[in-house]
Amino acid sequence: MISFNLPEIGLGSRLLTRLFLGARPGVAISFDDAYVNEWYSLRGLFSRYGAKATFFVSNFDLLPEESIERLRILQDDGHEIAFHGLRHVSAGKFVSENSLDKYLESEIFPGIDTMKQSGFSPLTFSYPYGVRAPHIDEALLKYFKHIRGVACTQKSKKLSGLSQIYYKRKKGLVFAAGVDNVYGKSLEEIKDAMKMAVVREKTILLYAHKTSDEACDYCTPVSRMEALIEYASNAGLKFFRIKDL
Ligand SMILES: [Zn+2]
Repeated sequence: MISFNLPEIGLGSRLLTRLFLGARPGVAISFDDAYVNEWYSLRGLFSRYGAKATFFVSNFDLLPEESIERLRILQDDGHEIAFHGLRHVSAGKFVSENSLDKYLESEIFPGIDTMKQSGFSPLTFSYPYGVRAPHIDEALLKYFKHIRGVACTQKSKKLSGLSQIYYKRKKGLVFAAGVDNVYGKSLEEIKDAMKMAVVREKTILLYAHKTSDEACDYCTPVSRMEALIEYASNAGLKFFRIKDL
């Protein structure tokens, strides 16, 4: 649903012009790890706003069949099911202690295989812990269209000033900013960052882990996720999956 009633951000006419010209700024929201039940419980929220997301799954082979079925349903809803490593190892650490070949052979190829055996074809990858290096990027991009890293956020720097998280038709390596509790970003700051996507006519990348009201570091309260999806929808941001960037 698109609303043109945006007096609070004063971007209504700019948005209208852009919509008629066909170019749309967007938001790509992704989720990491294996919180399938929590993600699945967001289905109603996603459908309310026509939102699409990307789920980067680790430890896929350890998931119960019920979770795999839930991922299939999320995929059928139009979301992207992507890859986050077989055992969630830190790529940079593992490669420096072993080798790049060993990393691909133990963490990447068997993980892709196990997803394929269940009918998923992951096209994109996100780095566990965000730990990466250019030669690992290069190797992984032979197997993935996009690989997603983690933007370094600081309390003192506003998300809207982080040019690294805004893209326009970008393949390869991209970075997302975290919205979990641990990053200490207020809803207002995240909204301001999305508003900047409209201004810059780009897609902003945001990511989370577990959607939960628990007071855990790597959790995003459901109310925060809903508020940012609602804001993105009202601001006319298109919901991109990572593979669509
Ligand atoms: Zn992770």
